[in-house]
Amino acid sequence: MKTKIIDRSNCRPVITQAGNSVALKTGSWRSLEPVLLKENCTNCLLCWLYCPDMSVIVRDGKVEGFDMDYCKGCGICALECPGKKGQKAIRMRKEEKE
Ligand code: SF4
Ligand code: SF4
Repeated sequence: MKTKIIDRSNCRPVITQAGNSVALKTGSWRSLEPVLLKENCTNCLLCWLYCPDMSVIVRDGKVEGFDMDYCKGCGICALECPGKKGQKAIRMRKEEKE
């Protein structure tokens, strides 16, 4: 079997300059997507705090949804969400790709 050499020219995604991670839209990695159930949300903002991609959109102290350009579907927000009365406010579902 032939071994493939991986270097800068054929390894994707790659960020070659510092400070430009905004250009790397990690949303393309996603197979699961978060769904917000606002009725169970207390706006504790733990999801915003834990999201590794700053993809939880907050306006006026309230969770509005997710930035799907950068959400990679890791599910950490859903895992950490305490929800209300035992009912989580975020659940993950399989994303339908077009
Ligand atoms: S962690 Fe859950 S309850 Fe807290 S703000 Fe996020 S979605 Fe709402
Ligand atoms: S699934 Fe992961 S990347 Fe997407 S909003 Fe939740 S914590 Fe952030």
